[in-house]
Amino acid sequence: NRRFLLDSRPKGEPVEKNFRLQESPVPEISDGQVLLHNIYLSLDPYMRGRMSDEPSYAPPVEIGEVMVGGTVSKIAASKHPDYEQGDWVLAQGGWQDYAVSNGKDLNKLGREPSHPSYYLGVLGMPGFTGYTGLLSIGQPQQDETLVVAACTGPVGSTVGQIGKIKGCKVIGVAGGEKKCRYAMETLGFDDCIDHHTEDFAQQLADACPDGIDIYYESVGGKVFDAVLPLLNVGARIPLCGLVAHYNATGLPQGPDRVPELMGILLKKRIRLQGFIIADHYGGEYQTFRQEMSHWLEQGKIHYQEDRVDGLEKAPKAFIGLLKGENFGKLVIRTAND
Ligand code: NDP
Repeated sequence: NRRFLLDSRPKGEPVEKNFRLQESPVPEISDGQVLLHNIYLSLDPYMRGRMSDEPSYAPPVEIGEVMVGGTVSKIAASKHPDYEQGDWVLAQGGWQDYAVSNGKDLNKLGREPSHPSYYLGVLGMPGFTGYTGLLSIGQPQQDETLVVAACTGPVGSTVGQIGKIKGCKVIGVAGGEKKCRYAMETLGFDDCIDHHTEDFAQQLADACPDGIDIYYESVGGKVFDAVLPLLNVGARIPLCGLVAHYNATGLPQGPDRVPELMGILLKKRIRLQGFIIADHYGGEYQTFRQEMSHWLEQGKIHYQEDRVDGLEKAPKAFIGLLKGENFGKLVIRTAND
């Protein structure tokens, strides 16, 4: 059983040395438990927060503990009445080959799910995040302008495509020409602006002649700076993530711009609301699953994975995720399915 432990806390950008690969025996299970064989491991930006011991909405991974992570796993052995060997489940199996569960944190996926790894992306936590943030906070209306940051990732691509379904004009922001082309040609966005270009702010302004009604924020930094002057009266900002700042070690240089920001929020009556998706599981999740499955079947939602083979590649892939090296939902295939 290979497993990645958190070996040290990163200062700024994580490095591979922060993780330690350990070989250990496959765990034994007792009554009421199942042995999970992790087949797919999800790598997500929130894991940067778990590597840090700063106060947050969830406790950190302790030094020497296995890195946390969502997995799609097969039941390798069961002493639990509700699970049989060979069942597929959505689990919190972590960065390792095998994990033990008492069944409480498992979500059944049946005997032969057609795309098991989708439950880590478009049909799982990131898809649900995009769906909930956009619909409940963004409240998209026909013909409004929606700007989506990190628009080719699992959250952003979901947001933009639902925005199109709701009749919005959707402008994506992504890193690089290839991602922008994908956003327009495959995801059906009206435009997509590359945030690496020098005149990014001007290009964004040109793409939003009627201003911005909804900005789905996942990034912060210069993308937010470019969006701010374009926001319309009554704009909504679902504050989902701030990935441009996750590796920051302090506040950026420069004058204090909080008063300017507060002034814009006030004068334009803008609603900026942070949310953590873990608060929304329950009935809402079932509604999301049904609606999203339907959209996928109808071809209204496209989904792309960036699949990396081999658990040993997880640290490098994760470090790249925080820099935009992934193209689509980053998933590690830890074993053959
Ligand atoms: P993505 O696959 O979209 O990966 C993150 C992307 O962020 C990168 O691919 C990159 O895309 C972009 N990025 C990284 N650094 C910068 C930067 N400096 N400036 C601009 N863009 C940058 O991840 P997810 O779809 O899984 O997550 C998207 C966001 O949603 C994250 O902020 C995450 O933390 C947040 N989230 C929040 C949840 C909640 O409960 N609130 C739950 C799940 C996710 P590009 O190359 O296009 O710039």
